[in-house]
Amino acid sequence: SGRWARSMAILKEFEEKCGTPTGKLRQVADAMTVEMHAGLASEGGSKLKMLISYVDNLPTGDENGLFYALDLGGTNFRVLRVQLGGKDKRVVSQEFDEVSIPPHLMTRTSDALFDFIAAALAKFVNTEAEGCRPPPGRQRELGFTFSFPVRQLSIASGTLIKWTKGFNIEDAVGEDVVGELTKAMEKIGLDMRVTALVNDTIGTLAGGRYYNQDVIAAVILGTGTNAAYIERAHAIPKWHGLLPKSGEMVINMEWGNFRSSHLPLTEYDQALDTESLNPGEQIFEKLISGMYLGDIVRRVLLKMAEEADFFGDTVPPKLRVPFVLRTPNMSAMHHDTSPDLKVVGSKLKDILEISNTSLKIRKTVVEICDIVATRGARLAAAGILGIIKKLGRDILRDAEKQRSVIALDGGLFEHYTKFSTCMESTLKELLGDEVAETIVIIHSNDGSGIGAALLAASHSQYL
Ligand code: ADP
Ligand code: MG
Repeated sequence: SGRWARSMAILKEFEEKCGTPTGKLRQVADAMTVEMHAGLASEGGSKLKMLISYVDNLPTGDENGLFYALDLGGTNFRVLRVQLGGKDKRVVSQEFDEVSIPPHLMTRTSDALFDFIAAALAKFVNTEAEGCRPPPGRQRELGFTFSFPVRQLSIASGTLIKWTKGFNIEDAVGEDVVGELTKAMEKIGLDMRVTALVNDTIGTLAGGRYYNQDVIAAVILGTGTNAAYIERAHAIPKWHGLLPKSGEMVINMEWGNFRSSHLPLTEYDQALDTESLNPGEQIFEKLISGMYLGDIVRRVLLKMAEEADFFGDTVPPKLRVPFVLRTPNMSAMHHDTSPDLKVVGSKLKDILEISNTSLKIRKTVVEICDIVATRGARLAAAGILGIIKKLGRDILRDAEKQRSVIALDGGLFEHYTKFSTCMESTLKELLGDEVAETIVIIHSNDGSGIGAALLAASHSQYL
């Protein structure tokens, strides 16, 4: 029928615009490398902020004592307590708690957010077991993972540049987030000092490195996306401080804000961006990360409903609600292996209130999920290739067995199997068989929390 043909025409056009052939991915990777150079050359030299983290030493294994970590950067925040036992004993014990952030706190005041966090942290501290307390007179120390763009002033201070991922608390922008947290802790008499401020990528890099000395970069694919890697200090022209003894510096790329004319952007991406809390920003993130993938699918379905009566004569009203279709639901539909696609059927019914869908319709929905996830995964692989190229590890030097390990984490990477599988195979495709043998992707499961605690330990006031 006419409506089916019109629906398929919309789908075909979308598919074409989302195309990521190898040649295009190479252009994206090269653009990433170019922007990395530009961002390192001067402050504001690129959309890629390439932030200096002040982490010039990664965990060695010698870290010792009781430390806390706090991870804020998405919909949940986590508190963590670890007992580190040095080289032999390593992580003696760890406990954590996860608290979801009430949505209204994501857009209100800095005080409201940090008061809430400090209260949850205090509650967690109160659960310390008898044998698991700091010695008398010793202050508890905390690694604070704060996963938004921050201009670091030192290892334990930094000002918020902007919010991302649906947060928007105006009075916090430009403030030292460690100061804000410390103020909130003091208000309720929680005696704890932040000795390291990092973001999730740097935490993941540190956590990954603790277990595997070949880790050179970390990538987060969760609500948002970002990457960090170890750069040679002399390759950072904008760094005017003393060269660190190690000769290295961890760089927080803030790659979510990458953009390039080579990125395959569609009308749906443009509309999503325009209607977002941060128009014009985080364009790479909006193509790749868990906060947005489901909404791109929704937008394509809406267009098909509006312009081709894909779901019948009327447009299902729920399809007009931004972000009703979350990425975990998209992922569940995409992974549906039942012959009649019953997961797709029930998601369409439960979330979008579209009942009695035909198999043909369900298959089309899966196809849209596949197009959106494949594009995101392949672009993420291109981004990783950009980092590998910047470090010159895309070429084999001599027969020397160089190994580069990239630590990945985040709910999207962890749970969206088709996404992570596609990303890894695309990276292999881009590297070629021989080089691909030397590049390893590992899942650093909550490496970020342990990483922040390790950095808190290596920057302790008592060392
Ligand atoms: P955050 O990025 O908020 O710190 P996570 O790393 O746990 O937290 O990532 C959570 C995000 O991962 C969710 O917002 C969602 O987009 C994505 N996600 C979680 N579960 C799934 C799933 N089953 N399939 C696809 N994406 C998922
Ligand atoms: Mg996270």
